[in-house]
Amino acid sequence: MRYISTRGASAPVGFVEAVLAGLAPDGGLYVPETWPGFSQDEIAGFAGRPYAEVAAAVLGRFAADEIPREDLLGMCQEAYAAFDHPAVVPLVQLAPDVFLAELFHGPSLAFKDVAMQLLARLSDHVLSRAGRTQTILCATSGDTGGAAVEAFRGRANTRIVAMFPDGRISEVQRRFMTTASEDNVRCLAVAGDFDACQAILKTALADKDLQRAVGLSAVNSINFARIIAQSVYYFTTAVALGAPHRPVSFAVPSGNFGDGFAGYVAHRMGLPVGRILVATNANDILARTFLTGVYARGAVAETQSPAMDIQSASNFERLFFEATGRDGPATAEAFAGFSAGQAIQVPASALQSMKLLFSGASTDEASTAREMQQTLKETGEMADPHTAVALSALRRDPGPGPTVVLATAHPAKFPEAVLAATGRAPETPARALALAGRPERFERIDADAAKVSAYVRTFAGA
Ligand SMILES: *Cc1c(COP(=O)(O)O)cnc(C)c1O
Repeated sequence: MRYISTRGASAPVGFVEAVLAGLAPDGGLYVPETWPGFSQDEIAGFAGRPYAEVAAAVLGRFAADEIPREDLLGMCQEAYAAFDHPAVVPLVQLAPDVFLAELFHGPSLAFKDVAMQLLARLSDHVLSRAGRTQTILCATSGDTGGAAVEAFRGRANTRIVAMFPDGRISEVQRRFMTTASEDNVRCLAVAGDFDACQAILKTALADKDLQRAVGLSAVNSINFARIIAQSVYYFTTAVALGAPHRPVSFAVPSGNFGDGFAGYVAHRMGLPVGRILVATNANDILARTFLTGVYARGAVAETQSPAMDIQSASNFERLFFEATGRDGPATAEAFAGFSAGQAIQVPASALQSMKLLFSGASTDEASTAREMQQTLKETGEMADPHTAVALSALRRDPGPGPTVVLATAHPAKFPEAVLAATGRAPETPARALALAGRPERFERIDADAAKVSAYVRTFAGA
């Protein structure tokens, strides 16, 4: 399987190269040259299989020409053994047609573990075979950093630098990064918001000298391996609810649109998906885009669901590319313009094709809090604020048939917001309790790409 850039101006690469590079040299994102798929019988056959086996089957469709299937299976088994629920991603029923997919049973209590645990093993595997090392620079709106540090701490072939917006993530989120004591981990508190962190990352990744000097790589959801790993739970949860014999819909708390695009991938691979409801908080760039066809940055608002405080949803570029019939030059023009501050007008035919699968909705702060309270009262389940954003959107627009709401974080990761909304403090899992007493280690830095780049070089000894 070869991977091409959404901007059409980079040479195709293999799976390993796409995973290690993250961003394509022309600034685009990698997508497979053709979409692999499963027959309806193969999808039906996922029912009742262990999560790691389904993950290996999905991953195999993208990577088996470069990595032996038994190695892929071994990595999946190891990655998902780190989860504290035997189903890995259990389903909990909230109402006749509403189900929660609990994606938070991994080491950092958020859904990003699902992809990151696998990505760490994948990259270790390919780096050690190639005799290479890498430096991961990661920009986090809260949960990616913790998941990445948890996954990569102590790994022999990787250094990791996690950047987070200073003061804009929760204490638990911060501690998942800053309490790692391994030598290969560094944390940077950036004086800016998440979009500033992401802009620094993009600048660094476009810096060929830096890339060569330190083996720079990204684990943000621009990395296609993460998207593949996230498409797996669309399969496992839909099959548990009767797919492929009936379509299943999804409601997805969205920021960078990685999770939403993973649903698109599952759909392209043959899974009958009814609708993907893209739920944003007040930072509603995606919700607005699906409504109006204009992809335009707004000001970033701080909310109680900080992992979604984003006004530039990187993976939307992949959907734009697909919906325009894989028009690389048009995608390049649109997204280079977006980086330069312009809005993107999605062509009418592309918007129409997006709307066949996606709809968008934004949930404000009051409705998010009310949803946490209502969900607890009606079902006895505590939802974290991100999950509540999607539950609220679904309550207002239920749609036909069963819907799986992706529960993207454990409520204990956002105890203040949950307590304020429900009057009850979520129970803290042992994994989070253990962080409280540990010393933290991080440095403050200006929102300045040159300073971050210098820091990374020093750390890598380059
Ligand atoms: C990252 C994150 C999201 C947003 O996911 P995207 O793939 O960026 O859209 C939602 N909820 C939580 C808890 C997250 O950590």
